[in-house]
Amino acid sequence: MGLVRIACYHVALPLKKPIRHASHERTTSDSLIVRATLDGGIEGYGEGVPRSYVTGETIESAIEAVCGTDPAPALGDPTDYEQAVARIDALTLPSIEADPRGMFGNAARCALELALLDAFGRKFGRSVSDAVRCLLEGRSYLRPEPGPVRYSGAITAEDPRKERISAWKMRIYGFDRVKVKVGVSGQDDPARLRRFRRILGSRMDLRLDANESWSAAELLDRVAPLRGCRPSAIEQPVPHAEVESLAELRPRLGVPVMLDESLCGAPDGRRAVSLGLADLFNVRISKCGGLGPTIRLIDLAFRSGLGVQLGCHPGESGLLSAAGRHLASNLIGLRYLEGSYERHVLAENPTTPDVTFGFGGRAGTIAGPGLGVEVDPARLERMTVSRRDISHA
Ligand SMILES: [Mg+2]
Repeated sequence: MGLVRIACYHVALPLKKPIRHASHERTTSDSLIVRATLDGGIEGYGEGVPRSYVTGETIESAIEAVCGTDPAPALGDPTDYEQAVARIDALTLPSIEADPRGMFGNAARCALELALLDAFGRKFGRSVSDAVRCLLEGRSYLRPEPGPVRYSGAITAEDPRKERISAWKMRIYGFDRVKVKVGVSGQDDPARLRRFRRILGSRMDLRLDANESWSAAELLDRVAPLRGCRPSAIEQPVPHAEVESLAELRPRLGVPVMLDESLCGAPDGRRAVSLGLADLFNVRISKCGGLGPTIRLIDLAFRSGLGVQLGCHPGESGLLSAAGRHLASNLIGLRYLEGSYERHVLAENPTTPDVTFGFGGRAGTIAGPGLGVEVDPARLERMTVSRRDISHA
């Protein structure tokens, strides 16, 4: 009973409010949702979030990448979930292999991988958490069994009043870690951080994300006035084109550096380690090409003594939230966790049940089968901009 059909949906997920950061603003979030149908009619769904400013992908290129590959022969007819997981993990896309950064096609691969893990999980009555455990087998940072996790909050750049309300919400909601977007033009970051620190209290773990805002030449001057607020890390302070400058600047910053836009494929990870560009990696399942490639980057980080944040794309649906939960709930030593924001970010989610975290950012494990969330066909239909079907029968 193998793969017989793939459907690619370009969906526009409606956002509660526009998402802004240093370089972009939008009111819907484009996702690629892939539905994989197995012989016998069992279906699985996966999601990828193609972003041209992250992996170079667009929705169109991601759909092309999925439609241009036929994974059915390599998958065959696996006899158990472990075999299916190993075969799915070995799948790659020609555009990823051809890319020096190993990333052009990562969102596409992610959507396909998750759809297959979900479908075969449903076939064998197993959870994607079991797939994660297969992929992490033998690692010292594999939890003895899946357990609860804790997400961090985020404050995006807005007018001072909204930002203050947002900071109070973070505190009242009981988060212990909060990320603040910095580097947006017209914002006084040192003053903002002092306000946030006052509201959030001295014990809150506060970290920054600059989304490539500052040039290498100005970096030390930009970060120096922020250090008084004791940020625990700064994410992607310089544009990717200048990332190698961090070899020299990172030790002088006084704040640990996390790579995000400069950490997409495996070559990025190897370069960051060999040149000493980072203290932490921000891995995201879609950006990195799915659960398997993400786990390999986590492995590289841990073996190299670096910290890890499992991040997300704001606006991702319950499919990627569930995938992130399955991964995080099986890991020991994750420094920061982001995601499962749906109820706070999306006006409508194509999946049920709601897996948004609760008070304090806390969330439990998700049971299977598959990803453990169901796609509502009517909701998916409403959000669908276009659809392409490919038969692999
Ligand atoms: Mg980031």
